[in-house]
Amino acid sequence: MTVLSEVLEANGRYADAFGDKGELALPPARGFAILTCMDARLDPAKFAGLSEGDAHVIRNAGGRASDDAIRSLVISYKLLGTREWFVIHHTDCGMEFFTDEVMRGLLASSLETAVLGEKGFYDVGEGPGSSEAKYIDWLTISDQAASVTEDVTRIKAHPLVPARIAVYGYIYDVKTGRLTEVPDATAAGRATA
Ligand SMILES: [Zn+2]
Repeated sequence: MTVLSEVLEANGRYADAFGDKGELALPPARGFAILTCMDARLDPAKFAGLSEGDAHVIRNAGGRASDDAIRSLVISYKLLGTREWFVIHHTDCGMEFFTDEVMRGLLASSLETAVLGEKGFYDVGEGPGSSEAKYIDWLTISDQAASVTEDVTRIKAHPLVPARIAVYGYIYDVKTGRLTEVPDATAAGRATA
């Protein structure tokens, strides 16, 4: 069975049991948003107890406060009324295993999928690659607590983010499923109005 047919079959079952979810309001009912990593092991609906309609979940590689993540967060409060945000990075994040320099080198040599070895990612595929990677800030991570604090601090300092928004910083442990607070991040993220 292909991925496409698996997904469509699963969706058929989901839609059959959709019930009254078609009546949900557009603004998130519980008034909060989560910014987290796209890692396949993280399921915010499960680890944070979300149902459809509850909260915004914004995901990218690393759960980083990129300009585009901030774009979504601003829409989240300005148009849809969220008041509290979580920034959640996680243990064993793929973003810890490379740097901008490494990513640019890999993509410059090949567009095939690289392999993760003892010394990090390396290319096994054919060229050509592309030098376009040098124009992207890959927002890699070298220390999870530091990256959470950096992102919460950036969000709180953003001129389009009002002081009344509280931002909480957490690390999700992929071995246990547990969230652990990053106190420096939460301190930086406290609502001040
Ligand atoms: Zn990750």
